Amino acid sequence: VSAIHTNDTALELERYESVVKMAAKELDLLAQTAEKRAGKEAAEIFEIHKMMLFDKDYKDEIERMITEEKWVCEYAIEQTSKKFSEIFLKMDNEYMNGRASDVLDISERMIKLLTNKGDNFEEMLSAGEKVIVCAEDLAPSETVQLDKSKVIAFATRYGSAQSHTAILAGTMNIPAIIGLGEALSEDYDGMLAVADGLSGNLYIDPTPDILEDAREKRRQTILRRERLQKLRGMDNITTDGYRVMVYSNIGTPEDIENVIENDAGGIGLFRSEFLYLERGTYPTEEEQYQAYKKVLKKMGDKKVIVRTLDIGADKSAEYFDIEKEENPAMGYRAIRICLSRTDIFKTQLRALLRASAFGKLSIMIPMVTSVDEVRQTRKILNEVKTELRASGIDFDEAIEFGIMIETPAAVMISDILAREVDFFSIGTNDLTQYCLAIDRQNQRLESYYDARHTAVLRMIYKTIKNAHRARIWCGICGELAADLEMTEMLLAMGIDELSVSPPSVLPLREKIRSINLGAIREDCLGSL
Ligand code: PEP
Ligand code: MG
Repeated sequence: VSAIHTNDTALELERYESVVKMAAKELDLLAQTAEKRAGKEAAEIFEIHKMMLFDKDYKDEIERMITEEKWVCEYAIEQTSKKFSEIFLKMDNEYMNGRASDVLDISERMIKLLTNKGDNFEEMLSAGEKVIVCAEDLAPSETVQLDKSKVIAFATRYGSAQSHTAILAGTMNIPAIIGLGEALSEDYDGMLAVADGLSGNLYIDPTPDILEDAREKRRQTILRRERLQKLRGMDNITTDGYRVMVYSNIGTPEDIENVIENDAGGIGLFRSEFLYLERGTYPTEEEQYQAYKKVLKKMGDKKVIVRTLDIGADKSAEYFDIEKEENPAMGYRAIRICLSRTDIFKTQLRALLRASAFGKLSIMIPMVTSVDEVRQTRKILNEVKTELRASGIDFDEAIEFGIMIETPAAVMISDILAREVDFFSIGTNDLTQYCLAIDRQNQRLESYYDARHTAVLRMIYKTIKNAHRARIWCGICGELAADLEMTEMLLAMGIDELSVSPPSVLPLREKIRSINLGAIREDCLGSL
């Protein structure tokens, strides 16, 4: 649902009237079926929904948003329902608290009817069948919402393996096959398929042999996962005693279970921009505070590095109202937005600082290209700290502040930047893109996208050396951190931390524990 204004309020009111009627009809039908199958009590749920649908205050507010504020009907419904649901939740009455989800349910029903989304995909999901979702492409914001209990894999026609959609699939542990092109035909809808995320193949209507091979491969994968479980609680240490921190990347607080299950030593990258996606307006300070606090509390005394808003390029939200750009990856994004729209930035920093009282939080900023950006951020951060102190609000006074090194400019001045911050985290995904001049979203250029390119590796090495000269630590949170063929090289360079998707933590630990660093260091560095 997008926040769109309209001048044709009469049309929107008409759409609203008609969707209320359609939803009421659906609810009548559901109530009848429920009564037949599960008795009167089950039917009452839908009767309550119907009463809410016609509730005067609820209807008045939706109509007011359409006529006075001139929003399209979907947005008015969504926002009003959120408001009502929040009011219900705050009431000191359990029955009314329970109505919070009902009002959201009605809103969803109407929005689906308005946007024609109630198709057979929904039917399949509600029938409890597990599915492989096939799509033209999936936005990161859509991917992050996939229900893992129902979606066992996804495949897309377009998109690139370097995109956030692909990265999220890894974080969420969903097998994904990206960029199959026109071969992914709609004719395959409803057919049996095997999605092999390891090889990147999708087998439609597989032969018995392919099915058997796939089952065997799955058995082996499960066995390997079980074997890796034995490494839980063990150190990330080479055979000759070199220790590395192995942390995890997350997109939403929901990923935490996966992090704990895989025994990561901390969160090396919390991509906070996902809190801003798929919604009609900015998340409030309170909403963000609750999200950060939840992660911090669950992680206990382990470090949680939250990256401040990295919006732009493939991660966009309409309400930011950012003009379309020719080159969004090199455009108005990330820290550039935060430093020019300080109200948004300050809200996030306040939420982060408040949450810092509940665990071990570090703040990190993305897309840095200059010392000035770091100093400006420090200044804003200090202003927020002063405000909090004045209001007597607790926060961690010793909070660590770091930056992402993901532009060649940041690499080249990393000696100067290192004097300004507490740590570096190298974003190899963007660093590769900017270093090699390869748009990471462009499927056609995928064969040129090479995070192992000597130019990228030299940049990483330079950054690590400059960090260590200034006595700060340096990690990698880009995908290269999980590339097991590069672990020796990264350790030889002296990397202090590697932050990877939760399912990659234990395989990386196994790899580190097999390395004798002294024996390979010279060779590795000699090849640079
Ligand atoms: C990176 O660029 O390597 C990184 C970790 O950030 P993102 O992938 O979110 O751009
Ligand atoms: Mg990046």
